[in-house]
Amino acid sequence: MKYTCPHCGEKTFTPLQKALAGSYRSIGKPCPNCGKKCCNGMGSIYFDSIISVIAFVLIMVLYMQSDSSNKIQSTVLMAVIIAVSFVLSFLFRMFFGKLVEPIRRMQ
Ligand SMILES: [Zn+2]
Repeated sequence: MKYTCPHCGEKTFTPLQKALAGSYRSIGKPCPNCGKKCCNGMGSIYFDSIISVIAFVLIMVLYMQSDSSNKIQSTVLMAVIIAVSFVLSFLFRMFFGKLVEPIRRMQ
């Protein structure tokens, strides 16, 4: 399973390469075939913002509920929430959304 490059139309990106190509705001990764830069489209930005809002809300709830008796536990949980949100956005870029041309063109 490979993803189509928006420049040359060839299926050149593996899911992992696509995930590493970053978001629409990043400089992207070069296509192995034509060498032009590609990145993930708006879908991954929407998904990232939804995930970070959910993570933020969960962390705030944990923060407000934590007291001295469960401080370590809630700190660990916060770290888990951040790690999970990072993994989810990575998986989204791997399997969903399309590759597009980055806005920032850098050589
Ligand atoms: Zn290409």
